[in-house]
Amino acid sequence: MILGILKEPNGEKRVSLLPEQAEFFTKKNIQVVVEAGAGEHAFANDDSYLSKKATIHTRQEVLQNSDIILSIHPLTDTDTGQLKPGTVIAGIYAPLFARKLMQEWAVKNIWCFSLDMIPRTTRAQNMDVLSSQANIAGYRAVLLAAGLFPRYFPMFMTAAGSIAPAKVLILGAGVAGLQAIATARRLGAVVEVSDTRPSVKEEVMSLGAKFIEVEGAADPSQAGGYAVEQSDTFKQKQLQRLSESVTKSDIIIATAQIPGKPAPLLITEAMLQKMKPGSVIIDLAAATGGNVFGTRNDQTVVYRGITIVGNSNLQSDMPTDASKMYGKNMFNFLQLIIDKEGKTDINFNDDIVKGCCITYNGSVVNERVKTLINE
Ligand code: NAD
Repeated sequence: MILGILKEPNGEKRVSLLPEQAEFFTKKNIQVVVEAGAGEHAFANDDSYLSKKATIHTRQEVLQNSDIILSIHPLTDTDTGQLKPGTVIAGIYAPLFARKLMQEWAVKNIWCFSLDMIPRTTRAQNMDVLSSQANIAGYRAVLLAAGLFPRYFPMFMTAAGSIAPAKVLILGAGVAGLQAIATARRLGAVVEVSDTRPSVKEEVMSLGAKFIEVEGAADPSQAGGYAVEQSDTFKQKQLQRLSESVTKSDIIIATAQIPGKPAPLLITEAMLQKMKPGSVIIDLAAATGGNVFGTRNDQTVVYRGITIVGNSNLQSDMPTDASKMYGKNMFNFLQLIIDKEGKTDINFNDDIVKGCCITYNGSVVNERVKTLINE
């Protein structure tokens, strides 16, 4: 068995497997082949892989010889053209948005496992790349906002005058949002939170934040714990309620997402008109359209003195821990598809394997992706 590790595209600092994790595999007699420079931005140089008995190669060699390839971002057309039929690739490929690409990969007989599709169950927790990476993004979002904000976060009473605490509004209390609440609270901010899932209210309050109540949210119980799209009446009520909070807020961390759909627009232009200049917004939902009017993905814009950062990849700015957690998620997942002899063994009776396998043996096999393709 040969396991390949690719260098990620420009601008991405993470790597899918760090040297100390490569060692888990080399100790099991699985050959780990690493593209030269793959770990460079995560402070893992080629020598550190060599010291763990991995070997360093060109990209072409990794692509042509591997049985399983780990990546974070999708492979390019040129990359996939070099794979052997039946090569397994595992990463975060957003197949609900990349349906055409999935069909192309099926035709090329690539066996694609997209770990962002893993069911959110207790057993899958240690393979849940969305959680491990969102946790980092939530933490970094608050630190980034604090760096850009022209005032303190905590309250101070000093001889030079009193400082009021910063007011932070968090949109979406999923994994990123909850970490953002905890981080903003640790820095001394006063925090308010909006989410359409009423079940998160207790978690929000236990972190010392205020939950913004809006009655009449759609029932998410059939959506595996995820949010679902809301009625127009609810959206109106929520926007009205949010408008009051936005006017008071100094910082907004926007994380609200609905799987497979564009992110809900929660901060309108009219609301931005009411925010104070110097306020900061970090929109982590930027890649799916953003929660905020004026958000541009991968850009920072200043609107009426309000800084709006559109960045859905803040985890890349903490590449060492992000790679460490990602690699551990991958290692745990690979235990499910590699047998004791070190051969690929795909068991579709396993709900985790079935849930994240998108293409197999020449076809798109994932039910959610198939449904979207046929719509
Ligand atoms: P996500 O990234 O899909 O969305 C972020 C948050 O935005 C969610 O809390 C969602 O309810 C909220 N949201 C969506 N639309 C909104 C709107 N219009 N207004 C305000 N908020 C809105 O979420 P996630 O972090 O991936 O978590 C999704 C679910 O999965 C949660 O229930 C989480 O607890 C659960 N989860 C379970 C496990 C596990 O059991 N293994 C692991 C991680 C997450």
